[in-house]
Amino acid sequence: MSERGEKRTAVVTGGGSGIGKAIGERLAADGHQVAILDLNPDGSTFFGRKADVTDPEQVGAALDAVRAELGPVTILVNAAGLDGVSRFDKLGFEAWKRVIDVNLNGVYHCIQAALPDMVAAGWGRIVNISSSSAHSGQPYMTHYVAAKSAVNGLTKALALELGPRGITVNAVPPGFVDTPMLRKAEADGLIGGTVEDHIKRTPVRRVGLPSDIAAACSFLISEDAGYITGQILGVNGGRNT
Ligand code: NAD
Repeated sequence: MSERGEKRTAVVTGGGSGIGKAIGERLAADGHQVAILDLNPDGSTFFGRKADVTDPEQVGAALDAVRAELGPVTILVNAAGLDGVSRFDKLGFEAWKRVIDVNLNGVYHCIQAALPDMVAAGWGRIVNISSSSAHSGQPYMTHYVAAKSAVNGLTKALALELGPRGITVNAVPPGFVDTPMLRKAEADGLIGGTVEDHIKRTPVRRVGLPSDIAAACSFLISEDAGYITGQILGVNGGRNT
């Protein structure tokens, strides 16, 4: 037993870096067994499987490997993500589709693969990492914002469907979290100034940390959060209220 409930098996996609990595560390500290699915799981110290979330066969094989090693998967955090920046009139369909594929269809494939274990257990927790840009909009990121908005919608609809089976579905849309994704965007001149400039405009006056997102996931996964489902829990220092 962990402090927050029973020891379970958690899969974190995108757990090789940034926010997903911090979520894996936090869930392990909470007493869960953690497995990472990532294109590059090497950054993780946990049971890792290389898988592209856009490929249902790779996702299915990875989930089978996790089950064989750690048992049924009753916690799933979808944190794998791919951003992209382009003026809409220059945005080709292939680039549009890839961003939708990773950020939206990947969530579909991973939930489909883990769901049977949750249904069999009569208990499950799904947390989808979307984005505060789904709330605020973001110029030059139409594909990304469309995908993340759809993830929020999926979260709300699926929560209604799975509630009777003991499974909660929530989303955490991060805003401005200090990860390789954010620093690359800063270096590429894509965030309208520096991280420091943004901190001055953030109500709590600091950049978000991966551990801030991980703490919200930890709560949503805990037994204490069993009456919370279909929610979009912003963790953004007050940037989007
Ligand atoms: P990151 O780039 O550090 O980590 C993303 C991880 O996803 C990487 O390890 C990468 O290998 C993995 N990944 C990418 N495509 C994949 C695929 N097809 N299959 C499997 N794994 C894949 O980014 P991050 O900042 O930690 O982002 C984590 C999540 O948070 C993403 O969904 C991102 O969209 C979201 N997010 C981040 C911020 C932020 O400020 N950093 C803001 C809003 C939303």
